[in-house]
Amino acid sequence: MPSAKDQRATKPATRIGYGFDSHEFRSGTPLKLGGITLAHDKGLGGHSDGDVLLHAITDALLGAVAAPDIGDLFPPSDAKWKGADSVVFLREALKRVRHAGYGVANIDASLILAAPKIGPHATAIRMRVAQLLGIPADCVGLKAKTPEGLNLENTALTHVVVLLEARGNPKKARKKTK
Ligand code: MG
Repeated sequence: MPSAKDQRATKPATRIGYGFDSHEFRSGTPLKLGGITLAHDKGLGGHSDGDVLLHAITDALLGAVAAPDIGDLFPPSDAKWKGADSVVFLREALKRVRHAGYGVANIDASLILAAPKIGPHATAIRMRVAQLLGIPADCVGLKAKTPEGLNLENTALTHVVVLLEARGNPKKARKKTK
């Protein structure tokens, strides 16, 4: 095993992360996607507020720095996270990214869902995600597709990749965030 000093010396300049999530649509709950609420007759069930896009981004960030995943950090079995704002999860992942000495360069996301149409909301979602990540909106890619041939009309799926770039000395980054 290399020493901690050796590990720092060989810290990669960039790291990639990948996140996936899926949630089922459910009546009687607001639809949250990318930290904003969309007008729709159904929302997404499951863990917390069901924001499938923020969950996949969170897991991509955590994966990029080899941290425990969203389910480990915020177990659905813990009543504390029932109905929680998923922004809390994203902020924890960002904190871990910064502690590791990295910043977000860009992300790219694919949303797969039958309805509602994402086009009219895409700019608002991209701007909110960019704001949450502290990056320009032109560093947030967002594509929406319908689940053609998947037989998943009542499900929203998300795939996300994130690129991190090394920012300064990780020791200093750790001190700053304390
Ligand atoms: Mg989820």
